[in-house]
Amino acid sequence: MDTLLQCLEERGALNFFAAEEDIEECFKCHNEAYRMRQIRKWIYEKLADNFDVMTDLSKELRRILREKLTIYTLEVKDCVDVAEQTKKLLLETPDGYLFEVPILERRNYATVCLSTQVGCPVGCIFCASGKRFKRNLTSSEIIQSFLIAKRIVGNKLKNVVLMGMGEPLLNYSETVDFLKKLKKNCGISMRHVTLSTVGIPSKIRQLARSGVKPRLAVSLHFTSDEMRRSFMPGVRASIKDVLDAAYDYYMETSRRVSIEYILFGAGVNSTPDDAGRLVSLLRFFEDVHVNLIPYNPVPGVDLKAPGYSTIKTFANILKKAGLNVTIRWSQGKSENLACGQLAWKRGKN
Ligand code: SAH
Ligand code: SF4
Repeated sequence: MDTLLQCLEERGALNFFAAEEDIEECFKCHNEAYRMRQIRKWIYEKLADNFDVMTDLSKELRRILREKLTIYTLEVKDCVDVAEQTKKLLLETPDGYLFEVPILERRNYATVCLSTQVGCPVGCIFCASGKRFKRNLTSSEIIQSFLIAKRIVGNKLKNVVLMGMGEPLLNYSETVDFLKKLKKNCGISMRHVTLSTVGIPSKIRQLARSGVKPRLAVSLHFTSDEMRRSFMPGVRASIKDVLDAAYDYYMETSRRVSIEYILFGAGVNSTPDDAGRLVSLLRFFEDVHVNLIPYNPVPGVDLKAPGYSTIKTFANILKKAGLNVTIRWSQGKSENLACGQLAWKRGKN
């Protein structure tokens, strides 16, 4: 036991999720790899939040683990039913950032919407998350958000969307590490995980070869680079390069790609001409899905959603051209929990 303690100390292990590989190595060095399987089962399957409940480990081992390691570093500040089938979880990081995690429930399944950053550096003018960027979330914090949601809704939690705060591909390694943990330990199939991105071509291609292949959703929103860059100032790549990378992702993973398109009113991007240009841009995809998202209001932003008939006309042009189209009427809008409405706040510090 002393040597295990030393081993953990030498590796500077502090948080279970952050140091999982190191802890595993320590157990392997002591020919006790099975211990790691026991601990993982407790944490990922039985959702334990402390080592004391792990009764199949010796008291001594539990003591060492308790002294050396934390499991949850995020604090649950609140969890409320904000609307029918919508819960809002409020979490706080150790350095005092408060952020919300929406959980959408259906009869047989639930979906959690996770953040990958505190705020977002891309700075899209229509998005509350883009107002200020603080820092990346760690893979430990992202998996904790998932497990906390699972403690609330149980095994119904089958879907994960990375559509909360932040641009996942600008926090690539932590996001992929999170996805690996989710796939390996939480029984979540990558077919039930969607990563939404503004599109960073090199990272999309890297993701295709990473061993985790989530569904990819590309936030396009505009059909000209000029308009796109003026509304999404942190975007670097051209529309053509983003769509080429998305196509490569589809070819490499055989996963159908989704295109997200927020509809803004007042002729901004939802005219029949815009719809026509979108059809041309997507023509080379054999299989693509378009999600139309009527703009959700963000305080201080002078934009609005188009009327119902504009939305329908836009959708019909795409459908007539043979595209698969869904209009996403957002849940949780009145509670500022819908796409683009999540912001962070300062907590205790
Ligand atoms: N940064 C990533 C993922 C998080 S945003 C991305 O942008 O894709 C998740 C989705 O919400 C994106 O498609 C984003 O464009 C959309 N969104 C942002 N602000 C919105 C708003 N005000 N109304 C509707 N959708 C919005
Ligand atoms: Fe960031 Fe996505 Fe919001 Fe743009 S829409 S600011 S990329 S979270």
